[in-house]
Amino acid sequence: MDIGFSSRIKLSSSLLKNSKYAVAFTGAGISTASGIPDFRSPGIGLWEKNDPFEVASLTAFRNRPEKFYEWIKPLFLQARSAKPNPAHIFLSRIENKGIIKSIITQNIDGLHQESGAKRVIELHGSARTATCPNCHFTYDTDHLFKLLNSDDNLPVCSQCGHFIKPDVVLFEEMLPEKAWRAAHQEACRADLILVIGSSLEVYPANTIPDIAIRNGARLIINTLSKTPMDHLADVLIPMDVTQSIPELYKMVDC
Ligand SMILES: [Zn+2]
Repeated sequence: MDIGFSSRIKLSSSLLKNSKYAVAFTGAGISTASGIPDFRSPGIGLWEKNDPFEVASLTAFRNRPEKFYEWIKPLFLQARSAKPNPAHIFLSRIENKGIIKSIITQNIDGLHQESGAKRVIELHGSARTATCPNCHFTYDTDHLFKLLNSDDNLPVCSQCGHFIKPDVVLFEEMLPEKAWRAAHQEACRADLILVIGSSLEVYPANTIPDIAIRNGARLIINTLSKTPMDHLADVLIPMDVTQSIPELYKMVDC
């Protein structure tokens, strides 16, 4: 650990301790150590194999459900079997202590909740559950797992026979209204926003930290790559989140 690293963590910790309403904003980078690929960033990882609009759009779900499920099934299985890494676990502990009031996430893997976080706002939905678009019957993880693993047929609704849709936000879809509104409220209320593992390039999710900053919130960015908001940050921590977040927890805990 170099001096630059520890002083950045120390400064972040004192900003967090002095904040009245700190909010975390997380992206794919917090889950890569749990083996989850980046799902919504064209050009990165997952999309080298698939054109996102061919498989991950509402049109694909409606017109080519077999291709859609071929794409979503491994994502679902990954999200279901993945385990929270130290960044999830120690972020949850910071939240449980009340130092961070909520976690707004672009991720669909449910790992914040699994690591014990209480207030999680999922901007892009969840890969762990599904809903029938026709009759709105809902399917929990175990039910969805059974359906996706039953045989080679596509998962259909047990109530009405329509194809069911995992609760992830697809291209051509709006963000879930309730989550979007909650995230807006948090952004307006926040006096500090801690960005973890997000390149802040995916619109419209990236407007959330932007709103907070415009309202005068302090900004800490812990992302390995550069982001378009780096010049606005009070502290930049371009470090591996599985190292920085546990360190940050140690500092805010004393
Ligand atoms: Zn149905």
